[in-house]
Amino acid sequence: MATTLLKVSGLKVAYGGIQAVKGVSFEVREGELVSLIGANGAGKTTTLKAITGLQPPADGDIEYLGQSIKGRGAWDLARLGLVMVPEGRGTFTRMTIVENLLMGAYTRKDGEVQADMDKVFGLFPRLKERATQLAGTMSGGEQQMLAMGRALMARPKVLLLDEPSMGLSPIMVDKIFEVVADIHKQGVTVLLVEQNASRALQLANRGYVMESGEVTMDGEGQALLNDPRVRAAYLGE
Ligand code: ATP
Repeated sequence: MATTLLKVSGLKVAYGGIQAVKGVSFEVREGELVSLIGANGAGKTTTLKAITGLQPPADGDIEYLGQSIKGRGAWDLARLGLVMVPEGRGTFTRMTIVENLLMGAYTRKDGEVQADMDKVFGLFPRLKERATQLAGTMSGGEQQMLAMGRALMARPKVLLLDEPSMGLSPIMVDKIFEVVADIHKQGVTVLLVEQNASRALQLANRGYVMESGEVTMDGEGQALLNDPRVRAAYLGE
């Protein structure tokens, strides 16, 4: 079996008195695309924030490459190859596309940044066309592309994507899922958080379903997609 890269065990996260995540466990193995699906408010984003050090856990552990990363910051983790593309994208709106992409590579010291930028432009030709445009003047879909491109510039081992399809037009949603599949095929391990359960499970090797702060189901992507409970709750059947 492939090596486990990311392992979350018994994770609990609270905001004041609100228990947002109530003892969640899951793992992501090398080369996998794992989808975490669930309704609005199920605790998916909070789980990602706990992994990347943005929200301190109340209990449980998070291991990356076999070591606990609890309490480590997002910058530190990015340097180790654990990189998140946040919900809402978080691009630098007053910087150009190229400047945003270079920010993604700021943890690196090697001389291959230009080659990586060319790779990102290969995945997203639209970013190349708009290279000198300010990020803040781009559409939501283009900003999502930029946020993903910027994360790829850090050469992630594990890419955490929080709701990449949120708020995008159907054509853009298609494009984003196509690129997620490409990134995975190129060898990046992916943890994909999505409300679009159908698309996320179609791409996934394995998936986990979160409800009210807990993992209630898990299995192979295709098996979950065929599960009547998943179909009833998340696929509108
Ligand atoms: P979404 O798809 O809307 O992001 P989600 O599954 O990612 O949903 P979370 O955003 O993790 O869910 O929210 C889980 C619970 O925690 C919700 O009840 C939410 O209202 C609450 N919550 C999230 N962020 C905060 C915060 N900063 N302060 C207080 N409560 C919060």
